Amino acid sequence: MILIDGKKAAAELREKLKQEVFELKTKYNKVPGLTVILIGDLTPSQIYVRNKEKSANEVGLKSEVIRYPDSVEEEKVLDKIEELNKDDTVSGILVQLPLPKHIDKQKVIEAIYPSKDVDGFHPMNVGNLSSGYESSIPCTPLGCYLLIKKIEPNLSGKKAVVVGRSNLNGKPMTQLLLKENCTVTITHSKTKDLKAECSKADIIVAAVGIPELVKGDWVKKDTIVIDVGINKTEKGIVGDVAFDEVSKVAKALTPVPGGVGPMTIACLLKNTIECFKRSLK
Ligand code: NAP
Repeated sequence: MILIDGKKAAAELREKLKQEVFELKTKYNKVPGLTVILIGDLTPSQIYVRNKEKSANEVGLKSEVIRYPDSVEEEKVLDKIEELNKDDTVSGILVQLPLPKHIDKQKVIEAIYPSKDVDGFHPMNVGNLSSGYESSIPCTPLGCYLLIKKIEPNLSGKKAVVVGRSNLNGKPMTQLLLKENCTVTITHSKTKDLKAECSKADIIVAAVGIPELVKGDWVKKDTIVIDVGINKTEKGIVGDVAFDEVSKVAKALTPVPGGVGPMTIACLLKNTIECFKRSLK
């Protein structure tokens, strides 16, 4: 079984991006800029943002974090986004989710220019991805996709099962696999027989949020299994895949932690650079 090392893959990607930033700086005398807006003091969000800032600096991006208290008015956030939209030194804008209840998430997402939407959540980017046009792609599914391609460069004709249909993970993942000519089944909480669906898959991507949902006898040998889940349990952080069982049968599997997670941040940096390059056109 191939244990897919997300940390290593992310480090390799960051190294590549660092070189790309260096080349862009040499050619255009400017570097891509990422601005993150962080509202409130939720610990996981603080940790994510700190890691994003650290990684952005590591590859040479110009990075900035704008912090607001929980009580900030929606209008103030929207005004700041508008200011950043018009700022040429800002290539990408990310508003860290979740947001306080009084702030309308969709309004915030739609306020960011699609050309600066490094999360790929703007409806224009969602539509472009599903139509097969150039777009920002949500970072976690993009990371999963790159890991799958490392194991199997030619996905054409493969049967893929995506477990979970969130806008963040399942749906964009489906689009990426479809673009690679996979035959994709997207499953969710109302799916009748999840085991039967998974049993036919050459590729399984699990993005559910249920600890160890995907069992060893759901997976045929030669299947690539990507575990997006991050679940806090009594035995620590586990994924949506029963690692001990599935690792005995699968061709390749991502661990949790150390699989998809590290790729998510590296893909955010990649998206920022892509936004910068598109702005040059
Ligand atoms: P989400 O928005 O809660 O969506 C979960 C999806 O799973 C829904 O589509 C739901 O179906 C489906 N589902 C629930 N129970 C199911 C079942 N028994 N069988 C099949 N499908 C079922 O979750 P998310 O934001 O996509 O996140 C999923 C997991 O990924 C979480 O553990 C989260 O922490 C993790 N995550 C990891 C990263 C990373 O960087 N590694 C990033 C983001 C999220 P319905 O639509 O029918 O409700």
